[in-house]
Amino acid sequence: MSKFKFAMYWAGSCGGCEIALLEIQAKIIEVDQNYDVVFWPAAADFKYKDVEGYDDGYIDVCLFNGCIRNSENEHLANLLRAKSKVLVAFGACATMGGIPGLANLSSAQEIKDLVYTQTPSVDNPDKVYPQERFTVPEGELDLPHMYDTVKTLEQTVDVDYFMPGCPPEAHQIAGVLDVVTAALKGEGELPPKGATIGVAPKSCCDECERVKDEKKIAGFRRIWEFFPDREKCLLEQGVICMGPATAAGCGARCTSVGMACRGCYGPPEGVVDQGAKMLSTLASIIDAPDPDEIARIAATVPDPVGTFYRFGLASSLLRRARV
Ligand code: SF4
Ligand code: SF4
Ligand code: SF4
Repeated sequence: MSKFKFAMYWAGSCGGCEIALLEIQAKIIEVDQNYDVVFWPAAADFKYKDVEGYDDGYIDVCLFNGCIRNSENEHLANLLRAKSKVLVAFGACATMGGIPGLANLSSAQEIKDLVYTQTPSVDNPDKVYPQERFTVPEGELDLPHMYDTVKTLEQTVDVDYFMPGCPPEAHQIAGVLDVVTAALKGEGELPPKGATIGVAPKSCCDECERVKDEKKIAGFRRIWEFFPDREKCLLEQGVICMGPATAAGCGARCTSVGMACRGCYGPPEGVVDQGAKMLSTLASIIDAPDPDEIARIAATVPDPVGTFYRFGLASSLLRRARV
């Protein structure tokens, strides 16, 4: 029996999702037994024209990580959608925009100005910017066009499944590959189209072993400003922990080692906007009798957008700032 066809691609990505796939360790041998890799630029020298030559639906499973930041990302999203039977938005950037989505607080030009003319380590007195087209004796060179707005994969093409996490946890990746492989072999069923996979139907707090008592707080502080109790809920100690507004699935990795959850698994089932959910949670636990005191406590929240929408600004109800 011929092997199934596997692809993995990084768009606006840090590469961490690619490494995460290798964290399934010995299970990667099963992937090799079941799949031929037909496109995986991070692992082998494939060209876009290889993919363009495939029939539509030739690829059985494509794990697409990274956001849609530029015209090249968009082209590959469209191409891989057409060539793949199952397209998975893999990781927080593909599912929610991820950390690159925080760039939606600025325009593309503002980002270029900062990077090419205002960064102290850049020496660019003539204010030279990269050109999208440049002619050299050998021909014309081109660079992708950078869009003003970072998009998720779903905001660009039809997506079959969503797998959050920055990056997704290895045990979840392994579990999802088992389900997909079994379905391709006719030994199981795929989840319903549009499902979020590799998560559990509860919140990160449900997986967290820290002791929850009475969530009433009189101010916020950062983890490095004090020595947090090792057993107690971090939120109850005044550290903003996104656990109540984040889907379970990672095993509460961060809180188990003393760091607050940042929300990389996205909102739990039924929650439309992760940041709004967290704001609503905080509103219910601030321990203050009058509006002035509430405002004072709220003002101690460090970096509100980066805190509440660290991974999900591009897919939130806000989407982006007006510029
Ligand atoms: S989800 Fe996280 S690990 Fe994956 S590409 Fe985005 S930033 Fe990197
Ligand atoms: S708020 Fe954070 S520390 Fe507290 S129980 Fe939830 S995940 Fe754990
Ligand atoms: S604890 Fe939160 S930030 Fe950390 S891996 Fe889990 S979902 Fe992501």
